[in-house]
Amino acid sequence: MTDTFKNFVGGQWKASRTGQTFEDENPAVKGSNLGFFQSSGPEDIDEALGEAEVAFRTWRRTSVAERQQYVSEFLKLLRESREELSRIVTLENGKTLRESRAEVDSALVEGNYHLTQVSAFYGHTGPGAARDITTWVQYEPLGVVGVISPWNFPMNVMCRKTLPALLTGNTVVFKPASFTPWSGLFMAGLFERAGLPAGVFNCITGLGSSIGNRIVEDPRVRAISFTGSTAVGKKIQAQAAANLTRTQLELGGKNALIVMADADIDAALEAAVTAGFSNAGQWCTSTSRILLQRPIARAFLDKLVARCEGMIVGDGLLDSTHMGPVAGPQQYQDIRKAICRAQTDGAQMITGGETSASEDVSRRPVRRSAEGEGGSDEAAKADGYFIRPTVFIGVRCDMELFREEIFGPVLAVAEFESLDEALKAANDSIYGLSSAIYTTDIRAARRYIDGIEAGLAHVNVHTGYKEPSMPFGGVKQSGAGLPENSESGLEAFVDRKAVYLRG
Ligand code: NDP
Repeated sequence: MTDTFKNFVGGQWKASRTGQTFEDENPAVKGSNLGFFQSSGPEDIDEALGEAEVAFRTWRRTSVAERQQYVSEFLKLLRESREELSRIVTLENGKTLRESRAEVDSALVEGNYHLTQVSAFYGHTGPGAARDITTWVQYEPLGVVGVISPWNFPMNVMCRKTLPALLTGNTVVFKPASFTPWSGLFMAGLFERAGLPAGVFNCITGLGSSIGNRIVEDPRVRAISFTGSTAVGKKIQAQAAANLTRTQLELGGKNALIVMADADIDAALEAAVTAGFSNAGQWCTSTSRILLQRPIARAFLDKLVARCEGMIVGDGLLDSTHMGPVAGPQQYQDIRKAICRAQTDGAQMITGGETSASEDVSRRPVRRSAEGEGGSDEAAKADGYFIRPTVFIGVRCDMELFREEIFGPVLAVAEFESLDEALKAANDSIYGLSSAIYTTDIRAARRYIDGIEAGLAHVNVHTGYKEPSMPFGGVKQSGAGLPENSESGLEAFVDRKAVYLRG
């Protein structure tokens, strides 16, 4: 029997007032249903915001140490749930279990960073310019924060937003992506078990275009932290402006990997495969454009094709799988269309493209439940939204393939003569999220660091690499507002009050 999951509002599990639910499909098994989730409506949002607003009155007065205790307990439970949660992420997102475990680990590392960093964050005080006046900047929580997250990292992204918001004394209304509601509600369950006071964290499932909207436009919401497409990010920015609601937007990318002729080719190849095909290419810092300096282009491509063709695409629950399906039918159709368009535009596909994974499906044993038990022969026969690692060469800067975010396992490769030419091509984009260069020439590395228009610049490190003490955010149309992680990840959720005290 398929479970029905409820919203988490004001510390209670509640059905939506709409009385409607939607299904959650495992993308490795077309037509499957992992559970029924609440199709929430405006009334549910209204209630959640009301609960969060009431809870804020008390929560804002808790000490930082007290908030740290709750978050510390949450992180302990998260660590204990690593295996169970990883399975849920794989089941509803499709990524491999190895990738899901890495996602949970990343959330733990980032969460622990914020947990300790918040102590240092509060503590700016000093004598004023006048001898008898003491001045300091006091950080005040904003109030209710709306967190809207995507399906590609269904638990890590929400943690990166939610934990800093809670640690700085805000309350949260969280809307997970409709492809991955289960992971979101699982996190709500952890907050409940950590003993977080009622209303401090609320989770509502339902369509972004109806309830996401509703969160953004409500004047009780003082900040929106959103990760997703640039198109929706722009809508949110415009809507939030009506109430001067603060926004933190992490949006799309078209990240370039530049490989110079003097590079360690095998290391660059590893970077291309890791950042190009992890999570089936569905991550905002994935490598999607590769710019090869001409003398090494042929050798690099031969190795890249061999690597792609050796990859097993299949059910993420299997240890043998290197790459899982893409997240769902819409994503599958969009990627297929992008591949067809690239061919029409004259780019040459040298590997991949096929959208069936039948050879991998035949190797697939029975599918398991989230707890790893049971199974069914039906699943073994089923097909999923599989797309093989795909590489195009002969790509020109004016092609859609070079310009648009595809968000799938598709690499666009172009060749160049000089670093200037490569930088010009890499920067010829509305996006500016991540980037990388592979070179052994330190002067080339410095020229790249100074010249690349991106929020993240990597030298001999792949485009998806990040550390919690470093800001995580894009420039141009890849992001707006303060970046996540680092000190700015906390600062995004506080107002600064300038205090002047005499006496
Ligand atoms: P969206 O930007 O549409 O969705 C991201 C989140 O925003 C989801 O929770 C979604 O809800 C919600 N949402 C959708 N519309 C609104 C709205 N009008 N107001 C408030 N919230 C809204 O991304 P998709 O999931 O549809 O993916 C589409 C493309 O976006 C991808 O192909 C990729 O290019 C890009 N993307 C980028 C990500 C990144 O990390 N930078 C992450 C995910 C996607 P719901 O799921 O219910 O629609």
